[in-house]
Amino acid sequence: MATIFTKIINREIPATIVFENDKVIAFKDINPAAPVHILVVPKKEIPTINDIKPEDKDIIGEMYLAIGEITKKLGIAEEGYRVITNCNEFGGQEVFHLHFHILGGKKLGALLA
Ligand code: C5P
Repeated sequence: MATIFTKIINREIPATIVFENDKVIAFKDINPAAPVHILVVPKKEIPTINDIKPEDKDIIGEMYLAIGEITKKLGIAEEGYRVITNCNEFGGQEVFHLHFHILGGKKLGALLA
């Protein structure tokens, strides 16, 4: 199912893109929860973590490699950052197209709610 992220991938709505290759795109979150807040999104429409298939393992690897490149480029790799994926209702997922949130640019508080 296409979401707003597919529209960003297809350049139908604007976003500040910080990384792109054939499998992955990354852009600034429009409602940042930290000084650095980037969403790393596979171009394939995978709705949630629950929908990842064995054939998607290269895409997931590409997403982590993208995180490495993006955090170096933005200068937060060494100081550190957090990567989060929300899944379904209890996880607080709002956009049903798989994505990693990269949060950084400050010392983050305790994670567990
Ligand atoms: O993990 P979850 O699905 O809740 O996160 C969706 C994220 O997508 C939110 O942080 C929201 O601010 C972001 N978003 C965005 N650009 C849009 C729509 C949503 O950055 N056009």
